[in-house]
Amino acid sequence: MGADVLDEIETWSAERVAALESERLAAQLAYVAGASEFYRRQWAAAGVDSAQVRSVADLHRLPFTEKQELRDSLSEEPPLGRHLAASRTSLTQVQATSGTTGTPSFFGLTEHDLHVWGQIGARAFFASGFRPGDVILHGWGLSKGFAGGVPAVRILQQLGCCVLPIGGEAGAERLLTIAELMQPRGFCTGPNFAIHAGQAAQEVLGRAASTLGVEHVVVGGEPGGGIPTVRDRIESLWGATCCEMLGNSDVAPIVFAECPERQGMHVCSQGLVHVELVDPASGAAVPWETGATGEVVLTALDRQASPLVRFRTRDHVEVLGTDCACGRTSPRIRCFGRTDDMLIVRGINVWPSAVRELVIGFQPLATGNVRIVADFPGHSTERRLKVRVEHAPDLGAHQLAGLADDLSRRITQVLAFRPDLELVPPGVLPEAGVNKTMLVDRP
Ligand SMILES: [Zn+2]
Repeated sequence: MGADVLDEIETWSAERVAALESERLAAQLAYVAGASEFYRRQWAAAGVDSAQVRSVADLHRLPFTEKQELRDSLSEEPPLGRHLAASRTSLTQVQATSGTTGTPSFFGLTEHDLHVWGQIGARAFFASGFRPGDVILHGWGLSKGFAGGVPAVRILQQLGCCVLPIGGEAGAERLLTIAELMQPRGFCTGPNFAIHAGQAAQEVLGRAASTLGVEHVVVGGEPGGGIPTVRDRIESLWGATCCEMLGNSDVAPIVFAECPERQGMHVCSQGLVHVELVDPASGAAVPWETGATGEVVLTALDRQASPLVRFRTRDHVEVLGTDCACGRTSPRIRCFGRTDDMLIVRGINVWPSAVRELVIGFQPLATGNVRIVADFPGHSTERRLKVRVEHAPDLGAHQLAGLADDLSRRITQVLAFRPDLELVPPGVLPEAGVNKTMLVDRP
């Protein structure tokens, strides 16, 4: 019996996938060289000829594309930049990506580009348990033009699901009311919102979320779904499986997704987006071996409007395995941080998401809500890093002191920096909302 996958390519050998991707890469690079002024300039400046790249193994000859280059391209030629490689009239959608500066950047998509996104995303949602014909409650933000919004709705429709496009902005009360009425089999949203809505069910509906009949919760858009305690909480609140997915809004909203084994996210973009793993410092290729870590670099293999080649995602991942009981042959990864978020404390790299993961391990004494206070410019400090941790209600002075000591010791042991730790009562730090939970406060 074959594996339970949407597309047979998910079970191909790495060699067979590479052969197909090499063929498509050559065609895509020829298209990009002809249609993208951005890449013509970039490759000329680097003194490389894209025609010499004949396979994915040759891809390293081309330079990386950095987010900053896209921002420069956008400001040189607003609103869609010099990397727009299709006519404006051929676009059917314009999407936004959030910038670290708060100003959104925009890129275009043709009908064909949306279809390719749908192919990848449909494999991913299928891997996580959604099936054609399922009613799916959509609870990611819909109003800001981000990839988890309308694109995710469309991907679910391409899989053949019946979508309830309510969006996280509607709030837990409305989403829960609709869930009770429509009995969706699946729910997709951010991990924090899944917990928030799951906890609110008793008060809003007078019944536990686990009685609503949701079988699969899919989370993404922010870190958390890969943390065992967060996943366990979502699964017990909803009485459902919880799978995580990860994408990159500049290249494809969904690239990686977990299967029912829930042992890390499979690459789901075979033949459509090529995924490289590189050493973030040297840029050298990192082999896909269990335990390897590196930064994800993506190349669109079939993109018309805003094609990107060797785009540095800044997502740092660990390879958890290269085979799986589900039958998928692609590697499984877990994202442990983004370069953009990384802080350097006395020369030690500190990922805020790693601090959060560690604090979550102290539940129920800590609520899991945590903020790092970056009271210094840039990303680097020589002082002790201020970490605010919310403690559970009704703890005595003795318990509080013990918690502070244990947390400080654990952070020092595991993350190699000694925090300036402050315990705060529940409710002091902002609640997890629809939008990404910001782990770093800049006073
Ligand atoms: Zn699997």
